Amino acid sequence: MTKTRTVRLVKMDGGGLALVIRQQEGKGAVKVDCYFLAEVGADEGRGFNLTKHDGTLYHTNIKGVCGPNGENDPSTCECKGHLQHGHKTRCKHIASLRKLIAEKRL
Ligand SMILES: [Zn+2]
Repeated sequence: MTKTRTVRLVKMDGGGLALVIRQQEGKGAVKVDCYFLAEVGADEGRGFNLTKHDGTLYHTNIKGVCGPNGENDPSTCECKGHLQHGHKTRCKHIASLRKLIAEKRL
């Protein structure tokens, strides 16, 4: 089944950024995730804090280079998806941030 994902970066009133990730699998229900996005310092690469509205915080670090389809991405993320499946695929946070950086939107 094809999975489509679109990523938006929204400037909020009073400053700050929101990351909006919209995903749909085939003709399934659309899932939208929204995070407050803040860039934080990182020893290597670029570090970001993604905060969900319920207060859940993920530290995501985008570093190194990866293949054209995201293979062998050395970036890290604290979310469950990445911790469980990061060895074979990257989570939506890393994929979304990489996309925005590649398009020079971040
Ligand atoms: Zn993640």
